[in-house]
Amino acid sequence: MVEPGTILCVSEPFAHVLSNKEHDYRCENCMKRADELKRCSACASVKYCSTKCQKSDWSIHKKECPCLKRFQPKIPTDSTRLLLRLVIRFNNSSTVQESKGVLALRRSFNNLMSHEKEITNDKNRCDQLSQHLFTLQKVTAGVIDLPSSRVLLQIFGKMTTNSFTICGEEMQPIGVGIYLGPSLLDHRCTPNAVITFQGKSLHLRAVAQIADPTPSNVFISYIDQLNSTAERRRMLMEQYYFKCDCSWCQDKDLEISMHAIKCPDKACVEGFISLTDDGAMLTSCFVCGQSVSDHKFIQTAFGLEEECRGCLEEAKRAKQLNDPERILNMCESCLNQNKDILHPLNLSCVKILDCSFDASVDLQLWDKALMYGSETLPAYRKYYPPNSPNLGIQLLKLGKIHLYIHNLKEALKLLQQARDILLVTHGRDHVLYSQLLELLDQTQEEMRTELEFDS
Ligand SMILES: [Zn+2]
Ligand SMILES: [Zn+2]
Ligand SMILES: [Zn+2]
Repeated sequence: MVEPGTILCVSEPFAHVLSNKEHDYRCENCMKRADELKRCSACASVKYCSTKCQKSDWSIHKKECPCLKRFQPKIPTDSTRLLLRLVIRFNNSSTVQESKGVLALRRSFNNLMSHEKEITNDKNRCDQLSQHLFTLQKVTAGVIDLPSSRVLLQIFGKMTTNSFTICGEEMQPIGVGIYLGPSLLDHRCTPNAVITFQGKSLHLRAVAQIADPTPSNVFISYIDQLNSTAERRRMLMEQYYFKCDCSWCQDKDLEISMHAIKCPDKACVEGFISLTDDGAMLTSCFVCGQSVSDHKFIQTAFGLEEECRGCLEEAKRAKQLNDPERILNMCESCLNQNKDILHPLNLSCVKILDCSFDASVDLQLWDKALMYGSETLPAYRKYYPPNSPNLGIQLLKLGKIHLYIHNLKEALKLLQQARDILLVTHGRDHVLYSQLLELLDQTQEEMRTELEFDS
């Protein structure tokens, strides 16, 4: 039996790349932030925090280096680079790697599933592969002999279905890697374990009690759980080629609240009706029981969910252009339209609130940030498991803002809740946890000063 917070295993990548956007801030090898980075003098494309890190990356970079040099001033995309690194590593593909910890996960690159058949039948994937190959052939010519196209397809298949997004201190994506042992773990929409990173080391922690922690009893979530069942199943099928049938995917009540629409009877404050993923309409209120026969109302509500999805797509594009003002404007006009109709637990609504929250933080509009962020909490608590990193970090972000604007009581409450979760998901050694403890100290210190001042 292991308790929540227990480290199940620690694993180092078989191959990994740092995201292009992080090149100026982090070491290519250990992926840690460093003020001074030395670039590789031969290709000038990658940077390291120390000679030690440069040496340790050299076994793979010595072959990658002339390829990157040839491609300059352009840099291959992150996934093309990972594919290149896997091709370089391919000679070692039978070497078995073992992760350390309670859970002994032994695996070699050869053991990974390639989903060759599914990929051959998947037009999108085939297009991606030919784009990668186009670049690979260009950069490797005369330096590396590429394997046969069948083997390249298998390596690509293993890469796309087994790669982990490597997250930084605040859970933001900073790279991607192949971790042999952990890729053995199966998916559940309500996992009993979560993955966090320290630099490039992957840490797997239990987030619930696990009676018999063997590889077949430990589950992680491959995707963000804040999606409806149909959406989660679509994502899992598109990326990993399987249909999830976990208890969460079968929970109809959950599905109903994810599409909840406020009861049109204003007196019924908590009430809601719902549209299900398959388009069926459940048109009597779950609280007051009144049946809703206003067809126009139902149609409008259904259209609003659709509009929210459109708005989110737009917001995603604006995010890439780094334009928080545009995101906030768009999301606020969307919220104004739908706040009287969509229920706060409605996922489309929650996602718009979340976007507004992040954009307000970027614009340092603290009052708005607090308003939108707080409104996401009921849904976060309902749709994420109790020990979820996403919930913990949302509480931390909100607590930080309360502290910043001197709302000390509320700051203390939220930071304490965040601490209880992050202790389980990230552990005492993680920077995020130490930052959180400092914030808590600061809050308590300021509360004491305030008390002294009052008396
Ligand atoms: Zn380093
Ligand atoms: Zn180099
Ligand atoms: Zn599921």
